[in-house]
Amino acid sequence: MARRRQIYEGKAKVLFEGPEPGTLVQYFKDDASANNNTKRGVITGKGVLNNRISEYLMLRLGEMGIPTHFVRRLNMREQLVREVEIIPVEVICRNVAAGTFAKRFNIPEGQPLPRSVVEYYYKSDELDDPLVSEEHITAFGWATPQDLDDIMSLTLRINDFLSGLFLGIGIRLVDFRLEFGRLWENDEMRIVVADEISPDSCRLWDTKTGEKMDKDRFRRDLGRVEEAYQEVARRLGILPEGGPRDLKGPEIMQ
Ligand code: 5GP
Repeated sequence: MARRRQIYEGKAKVLFEGPEPGTLVQYFKDDASANNNTKRGVITGKGVLNNRISEYLMLRLGEMGIPTHFVRRLNMREQLVREVEIIPVEVICRNVAAGTFAKRFNIPEGQPLPRSVVEYYYKSDELDDPLVSEEHITAFGWATPQDLDDIMSLTLRINDFLSGLFLGIGIRLVDFRLEFGRLWENDEMRIVVADEISPDSCRLWDTKTGEKMDKDRFRRDLGRVEEAYQEVARRLGILPEGGPRDLKGPEIMQ
């Protein structure tokens, strides 16, 4: 088989040209990085788990009418996605103070926020993804006010939906990061969710113990990183324990 053309290589994923025009193959690596690439490592099996977890979450979002770039999973590490024009803004939604937010406002990690807070960061490794306002985004032409209206309402719907989904399996959705892209169909443009939704891009805490089940285990050298990703997949019912035939539905926690 001819080697596929690589379009882009990021820290955790590689994008290849897809089998049909307008599609891409998204390959999930085990590589992990943090602190703007100054900390690097490998989380064995992460790519396989994130491919599955992101597939599961994107499908559930699709079912409730939230458009995403996801088409289908191809194999253990790859999924077929629609090619979109990525909006160079990371959208972060927070329910509980943690990470850079807790630090910026000197709030203890774990303090619930009075309401969900949506923030925008400009995607730039060179500038270390600075926090930006709607004014910056529209002035620099990264997105239009209409795009931002769509992004905000999609983000809040996603937050409500994912918070409930995770709560049902004993996980608190502390915060998460989304990327959006523009998808052109004929002359119509739609904003769709792109990239991935996984423990790499979400803070997930066990509701009973408060234990971190996400990439903070790697960022903060907490150990048991692989196990945390596996546990998220297991609770979602998507970790094949006895091979691919052993897929169960989500495990409801009391
Ligand atoms: P913080 O700003 O506190 O570092 O991160 C907030 C949330 O966004 C966390 O859930 C974190 O995992 C996610 N996040 C922030 N920046 C990135 C990024 O560059 N890549 C990914 N995958 N997630 C990010």
